Amino acid sequence: MRHLILSDIHANQEGLQAALRAAEGAWDRVVCLGDTVGYGADPNACAAFVRENIPHTVRGNHDKACAGLDDLEWFNAAARASALWTQEVLAPENMEWLRGLPKGPLHLDGFQILHGSPLDEDEYLLQAGDVQQLTGYLDTPISFFGHTHVQGGFLLRRNGVQRIPGVPRQSAYADFAIHPDSYVLINPGSVGQPRDGDPRAAFAIYDDEQRVVRYHRAPYDIAAAQAKIRAASLPDVLARRLSLGQ
Ligand code: ZN
Repeated sequence: MRHLILSDIHANQEGLQAALRAAEGAWDRVVCLGDTVGYGADPNACAAFVRENIPHTVRGNHDKACAGLDDLEWFNAAARASALWTQEVLAPENMEWLRGLPKGPLHLDGFQILHGSPLDEDEYLLQAGDVQQLTGYLDTPISFFGHTHVQGGFLLRRNGVQRIPGVPRQSAYADFAIHPDSYVLINPGSVGQPRDGDPRAAFAIYDDEQRVVRYHRAPYDIAAAQAKIRAASLPDVLARRLSLGQ
């Protein structure tokens, strides 16, 4: 079975469509690691797509905030402005779906999906040290996580934690083979707001028979997504960062 892994779509319809086009025909099932909305200008289109097509979805911190389930005091000004705007424009059926999303980790066959860390959906796993402390808390060898918007992840070994790289800038994809005895935390990267210096939409496909994760990057119409953010009068930094991949 080939699993398409999407995360951090962040209401970027152009990014989502490009990722789906690039993945076409290469997957059998799809899961979503949260943050479908927030930041971008197409929360309804993106929420409707995930609601209708991705039964296995966990919530992210922006999903929670946009659903009104969290106060916004931990958000910076741009994130807060976009969460309030999203609350205003979300259609009732999308708001109801957002409110009902389960908190991860969600256990599926052979792996788990979660937003931040297995212990806390709002925690960032950015450095090897953040992951080191999880040894002993991982109840399944393969976990997919998001939240950092950095493609790649971590390989946990007896002698320490090793970083798994994402796709190099000059390539469209990169493969990572999962050794049967290893524990891995895999981040597909962000579909709609990458922060690893590569502005292309990020996603991954996991083949559970081959035990291979293929990381992907897909170019998309960044200018169109930026124009929608500006037309909605959302903070300009949310548009600018898309072309920087930061
Ligand atoms: Zn996010």
